[in-house]
Amino acid sequence: MAEKIRVMIPEEEVDAKIKELGEKISQRFAGEEVHLICILKGSVFFVCELAKRITVPVTIDFMQVSSYGAETKSSGVVRLSKDLDEPLQDKNVIIVEDIIDSGRTLSHLVKLLSQRNPKTMTLCTLLDKPSRRVVDVEVEYTGFTIPDEFVVGYGLDYDQKYRNLPYIGVLEFVD
Ligand code: 5GP
Repeated sequence: MAEKIRVMIPEEEVDAKIKELGEKISQRFAGEEVHLICILKGSVFFVCELAKRITVPVTIDFMQVSSYGAETKSSGVVRLSKDLDEPLQDKNVIIVEDIIDSGRTLSHLVKLLSQRNPKTMTLCTLLDKPSRRVVDVEVEYTGFTIPDEFVVGYGLDYDQKYRNLPYIGVLEFVD
């Protein structure tokens, strides 16, 4: 079957929303610094655009996680395949995610990273699928709330493809 992409959120809307999120974060942390945690690989495009829209000093670090049992729907245990390079002590940490689905990944990361004594810790996600939530997580900055459809683009992949699309699209299979 062939793959087809239907545009869900056009490029201009994504760009405008990221600008808005950047402004909110800049206002909230006026006079301070923020430390963005990019969750690889999906959040790379989002974090770059967001960082450019934040007007207070920004540092960025990267971590990579993978969820066990996506297919088996087991425990939602998250495996850390790349840890951060920098400590979080006394920093205003913002965890930047591409999408929240079950909430397991972020919930696990919040528990893990809060043990490293940041000054503050907040969550920022480009997309949220609340209908799929299994674990409750408090997200301060959400770009778009979307229905339960499999999306690609702006960092999100299907089989490692489509990350480079400048918009959010729904993956469809056609004969
Ligand atoms: P959670 O732990 O919240 O269930 O999972 C979040 C992760 O699942 C995201 O970081 C992403 O990798 C993946 N994911 C969830 N929904 C989608 C989707 O619609 N499209 C893509 N490409 N990945 C998704």
